[in-house]
Amino acid sequence: MFVDVDNALKSNISEETGVDSNKHSKTISSNYLKGLQLRHFLLYDVLPGVGSAIAIGLLWLQPISLIEISLLVGMWVLTGIGVTVGFHRHFTHRSFQTSTPIRVLLTILGSMAAQGPLTSWVALHRRHHEYSDRPEDPHSPRLHGEGIWGRIRGLWHSHFSWMMAHEYPNIVHYAPDILRDKAVMKTSRLYSVWILLGLVIPAILGGVLSGTLQGAGLGFLWGGVVRIFLVGNTVWAINSFGHVYGSRPFKTSEYSTNNVWLAVSSLGESWHNNHHAFQSSAKFGLWWWQIDFGYWVIRGLEILGLAWDVKAPTPKMIEARLKPSSQSQQM
Ligand SMILES: [Zn+2]
Ligand SMILES: [Zn+2]
Repeated sequence: MFVDVDNALKSNISEETGVDSNKHSKTISSNYLKGLQLRHFLLYDVLPGVGSAIAIGLLWLQPISLIEISLLVGMWVLTGIGVTVGFHRHFTHRSFQTSTPIRVLLTILGSMAAQGPLTSWVALHRRHHEYSDRPEDPHSPRLHGEGIWGRIRGLWHSHFSWMMAHEYPNIVHYAPDILRDKAVMKTSRLYSVWILLGLVIPAILGGVLSGTLQGAGLGFLWGGVVRIFLVGNTVWAINSFGHVYGSRPFKTSEYSTNNVWLAVSSLGESWHNNHHAFQSSAKFGLWWWQIDFGYWVIRGLEILGLAWDVKAPTPKMIEARLKPSSQSQQM
């Protein structure tokens, strides 16, 4: 996913960009956008994979040190918070309110994950909820035929290949609230700068902490490139596996599932069936044992007075939506 917000917004300069952002159309189509999409896919989805393979190869020469592991985990958590707490729970679903400085910070951290600028991310995800597992869904694994090959094709599409070329949702239709937020839009327009910063910070820290140039290179590789690859794959796994395998305590209108094995790495995103059942809830882990680091961050902000109107279903609402057969397993 990609996009150049300024050009998408300048809806009337279609001769220049080919963008047709008619307020009433839900998708826009142009060769200009397709070119940007492909460039984004190669730079931020394919290249980090290549970089990660190189990083693993280099382990034969020198084992990974605590510095690289710390930079990888630290940057993973920070940018993961940007995606799940910022892009997803706050901006897409408005599951809690917060101040402008926090909104700007979440925009920066989410942008560092290189999963597309905020407006694109929000528009694509709102479209996913609108058409989950139907043909208009940007990344459903369920529409590629029957049998094992249909399943494999579906997983490949929803995990990775959809980003190469997908219908582009009209941000004027899907994300007008984001477009109206001046501070956030000003920040989001610097999308590429934030990605670069997300690579430079671990490089500088790696260099300073190790005292060597090689340490700077390894910091860039593990805290930047490998981290983009791993955070990306974790989020894509929710799009793919999270609509195919796992438990479904709630009977929702699509195939969303809960997956405990992704709960820690996705900071709670993998309680995806819970999320589809209660889309405006800031809390994805609805039972005590469902680890949800993203919600703990929001709860921490709330305790500090930095977040308010935090939405979550009551136990009664949860019980009312549960399928009868799953009540005994979940409680
Ligand atoms: Zn969502
Ligand atoms: Zn979903």
